[in-house]
Amino acid sequence: MTEPAENVGPGSIAAAAFAELRAIYEALDAEVARRAPVCLLSGRCCRFEEYGHTLFVSRLEAELLVDQAPAPSRPLDDGRTCPWQDAHGRCTARAGRPLGCRAYFCDPAYEPIAYEVSEPFIGRLKELGRNLGIPWDYRPLHQHLGRLREEGRLDVEIVS
Ligand code: SF4
Repeated sequence: MTEPAENVGPGSIAAAAFAELRAIYEALDAEVARRAPVCLLSGRCCRFEEYGHTLFVSRLEAELLVDQAPAPSRPLDDGRTCPWQDAHGRCTARAGRPLGCRAYFCDPAYEPIAYEVSEPFIGRLKELGRNLGIPWDYRPLHQHLGRLREEGRLDVEIVS
């Protein structure tokens, strides 16, 4: 059991919490690798509006992403794209990318099992948050990023 993280906010997420989240990501990456979805590096998964999906993330995931990511490659919009997708369609924030980025593939053969693969790990994320006393606060990525920007923890230009 992890010590509760009091005062979730700027600088308050303990390194231990991030370590536990990274362990969940590593286990998920291993499970996804076992299923061997095909990635053609199309970049579709990160062009949310264009391909009709929304990346939801929990608060702890957003905290780790911003903590680990380099400076954004593009401005923060209202959920159409991800600020860490570069001009070639590649992710520049792979180390801290959220669960949805790790579990989603546009491979038609994988799509039917994506939910089955990701759901147990979402359960683990929720349990970790409960143990840490961190609100689940599951919402679209750009909303968390807007909050973190307002808190002065993410330096990114805004576009409407
Ligand atoms: S964090 Fe990386 S993988 Fe996830 S949506 Fe952004 S660019 Fe894509």
